[in-house]
Amino acid sequence: MSITYNKIHVHVRLGAIRANYRLLSSKSGGEIIPVVKADAYGHGMAPVAQALHDEGARTFAAGTIEESCELAEVLPDARIVSLLGPVDGVDADLMAKNGVVPFVGSAEQMDLAAEAAGRRTAPLDVCLKFDTGMSRLGFTLDDVPALLNRLKQTPKLRPVMASSHLACADEPEHFEHVRKQGARFQAILDALRRAGLNIQGCLANSAGLLAHGALHHEAQRPGIALYGVNPFHKTPMEDMGRELTPAMDVFAPVVQVRDLPKGRTISYGASYTADRDMRVAVAAAGYADGYSRGLSNKGQALVAGKRANILGRVCMQLCILDVTEISGVRPGVQAALLGGEGPQAIRPEELAGWWGTIPYEVFCLLGLNRKTHGN
Ligand SMILES: *Cc1c(COP(=O)(O)O)cnc(C)c1O
Repeated sequence: MSITYNKIHVHVRLGAIRANYRLLSSKSGGEIIPVVKADAYGHGMAPVAQALHDEGARTFAAGTIEESCELAEVLPDARIVSLLGPVDGVDADLMAKNGVVPFVGSAEQMDLAAEAAGRRTAPLDVCLKFDTGMSRLGFTLDDVPALLNRLKQTPKLRPVMASSHLACADEPEHFEHVRKQGARFQAILDALRRAGLNIQGCLANSAGLLAHGALHHEAQRPGIALYGVNPFHKTPMEDMGRELTPAMDVFAPVVQVRDLPKGRTISYGASYTADRDMRVAVAAAGYADGYSRGLSNKGQALVAGKRANILGRVCMQLCILDVTEISGVRPGVQAALLGGEGPQAIRPEELAGWWGTIPYEVFCLLGLNRKTHGN
């Protein structure tokens, strides 16, 4: 996908993602299943998965069935699981052809998977998805007898994995909830294995992998940590993710530099008034580029290695930066909205803080822009 109405440029350093993968591998006894859903959290699914395949990853978790099939074409020898699983007949068609491993967490998804399996000569591997405390998707422990029955009647469906998702693994104040989810998941695994299923257990996300060794089971599904975000940012457990390196840099060009005399207001709503004679740079980045209007009068960008405050409202395709103390700023200079060079580089956790959201959303929205990849 490439959009043409803007000037934002996202650069992804695959070397950082590889290093994060190696760091996570060193803490995992089992298999790491990199989560590359939503275009690898905006980082670009194909190049990211290719880089991690080079590092030894053999199973990947994409989002929709469609996205999983796309990845299966890029990495034909890898196992691709779809975290969302099938939602309609189109997905059933794709699964029949492609053999991606769907998460199946409801009777309806079971029907779609069975329909796909029926059209194949080979069996269809599936991952059984359980709710242990998210109350979002999945079967529960109570569903297990009916589920086993259904599987018995559908021999072409072959369960290879059971999974569940942790709601609070990154929040030390909620670790009792994590423990309960872990216990419920164990009870489910025990019941499935007693019935003779030969399955991998897969529970931990990034925070689970880093901080909850007892919940590792056979495989883990880290996402955000691969992209360099510390899940324990601003918690007492911050040290657990300190070595992770962000991989996404986002740049927008300065298009005009101008003087702003004391007393003059700036941008829509006149929400900022210059309190002294200032110099401002107008950069080609706004909410149409996924750069949130919530950053108005709050965020910062990096210009020539120095922090510049956003002044006034962020517009659709423009924002205004205070460069009074930064010399040599001219049109064409690239402002870093995320990342950038040097010790003042903007961390994803920091940008998310100004934005009033989490780094996941920052990556997904900025990652919709055109991208390049390097080491
Ligand atoms: C997104 C997702 C993950 C990865 O979570 P992180 O917090 O990014 O590590 C794991 N499992 C499921 C089911 C997900 O949807």
